[in-house]
Amino acid sequence: MSTGSLQSSNFIQNIINEDMKTNKYGGRVHTRFPPEPNGYLHIGHAKSICLNFGLAAKNGGLCNLRFDDTNPAKEDEEYVESIKEDVKWLGFDWDGRLFYASDYFEKMYQYAVQLIKAGKAYVCDLSAEEIREYRGTLTEPGRESPYRNRSVEENLELFERMKAGEFPDGSRVLRAKIDMASGNLNMRDPVLYRIMHATHHRTGDKWCIYPMYDFAHPISDSIEGITHSICTLEFEDHRPLYDWVLDALGIYHPQQIEFARLNLSYTVMSKRKLRELVEQGYVSGWDDPRMPTICGLRRRGYTPEAIRRFCDLIGVAKSNSIVDIALLEHCIREDLNLKAPRVMAVLRPLRVVIENYPEGQVEELDAVYNQENPALGSRKVPFSRELYIEQDDFLENPPGKFFRLAPGREVRLKHAYIIKCERVIKDERTGRVIELRCTYDPATRSGSSPEVRKVKGTLHWVSAAHAVRAEVRLYDHLFTKENPDEEEDFKACLNPHSLERLTSCLVEPSLAGAAPGSRYQFLRHGYFCTDPVDSTGEALVFNRIVPLKDTWAKIQKAEQGKK
Ligand code: ATP
Ligand code: MG
Repeated sequence: MSTGSLQSSNFIQNIINEDMKTNKYGGRVHTRFPPEPNGYLHIGHAKSICLNFGLAAKNGGLCNLRFDDTNPAKEDEEYVESIKEDVKWLGFDWDGRLFYASDYFEKMYQYAVQLIKAGKAYVCDLSAEEIREYRGTLTEPGRESPYRNRSVEENLELFERMKAGEFPDGSRVLRAKIDMASGNLNMRDPVLYRIMHATHHRTGDKWCIYPMYDFAHPISDSIEGITHSICTLEFEDHRPLYDWVLDALGIYHPQQIEFARLNLSYTVMSKRKLRELVEQGYVSGWDDPRMPTICGLRRRGYTPEAIRRFCDLIGVAKSNSIVDIALLEHCIREDLNLKAPRVMAVLRPLRVVIENYPEGQVEELDAVYNQENPALGSRKVPFSRELYIEQDDFLENPPGKFFRLAPGREVRLKHAYIIKCERVIKDERTGRVIELRCTYDPATRSGSSPEVRKVKGTLHWVSAAHAVRAEVRLYDHLFTKENPDEEEDFKACLNPHSLERLTSCLVEPSLAGAAPGSRYQFLRHGYFCTDPVDSTGEALVFNRIVPLKDTWAKIQKAEQGKK
């Protein structure tokens, strides 16, 4: 797990600098973000988005959004729309340069014909399984397909008939003719086209042959004039094929550069696994606030600024690692610290009656929203005889360092008065504490100077008659293991406590009618956001984005201490 040494060093920027010096692409920088529309984007994609759009912006270049839609069986318009929304929400703009690999199907077909004519591609009748068998292994060379030496005429005719829909799925493919003895398995006559009688979300039934990624990607990059084609490390072994396709066709040649994909602790990142969680009902959907998807993080309350900052901090490396999810949580705290109004919410209420406070009296107390950011202003908070505090803020028999309320002890109520606990009322049957009888000291009103006396504890509270009921959803990591991908079945380590719903919370009246997606700090609890889906003006629902305790900052401090 990489926790220490944060650096935003970016080796790709160094490559760009070098290319600028040598005028390799005429001083141009043109990148692209190429998602496959077969699922929702996750935080790993955010890294790639920030990298591609960020490098373009930093170097006065351009970045395209291109849908890599070459597999009609798995792709869908729903995903296209969600991806566009997520990229925009993250703060990036493709300025009208929205493309689809399927825009180039005709061109790709012509390029395939060109390869056949040059004797560099052939139609092969082996089954998928036979192709695998013939391919050999890392230690054994492959064997040539018996169809490898078909004449150009026969190949052209068969490929034309594949396109015309004369053959069933899987019966034939078009393969590149490269080298069955190559040390790189990707170069052993890779498949370029397959037959698939499926309706494509954009081209409908026009095509029944579809190009493979390794053929479609370099051609799409070339057509769009991409300069730096940035992809994740697992494509390193595909680079010779990327180069071969472009060289064999003799067309404009961008360079492929690989970087390490983002892995985050306590979650999974593969779309296949995320889809499994959605389809099998382990989460409520792609936008479940526990998901590492962009829409999940957005619903949870994350800001685009926090996610961009996170992507900046993790930097770009050449070797894979797992980033501590505490860093992502640190970034949202850092972003909301000054931005979020600090308000009072009691999640597990315990009734308090102030016996010496006049019945029916209400005082409107001045309360600044954020001491560290006066620009946020202030609101009035009503104080009255009957209040609620947090159940855990009272203990009948407190241990040594407990500075909250206990029989005979004093605490300050935030923005209000010092109160003292005089008596405890218990449920006769269960013995549970159900109410505290307290007194307040009128001379201790907050803000009145000089301060009469200090007490160690300050509690948040709400006025019983004025508080607004709310549901609060507390989230924890989705998995109990740091690296669920290591488990035989990743679902076996799903965290059974990743969601806790508290349905009888009470929040201060200033939150009444809070708009969906509003973010707050609940004093002493953490950062919260009204749920954009379930929260309404009448029935408030808050998601906890993160608790206040910053484990990342703690780890950093400890590491610095060691040095
Ligand atoms: P997954 O493995 O999650 O299904 P993918 O690579 O199949 O992802 P694509 O839609 O093909 O998903 O990815 C679009 C772009 O995002 C690619 O350039 C890919 O390299 C990049 N990308 C995907 N996952 C990550 C990640 N975890 N970290 C960084 N970049 C990623
Ligand atoms: Mg992919």
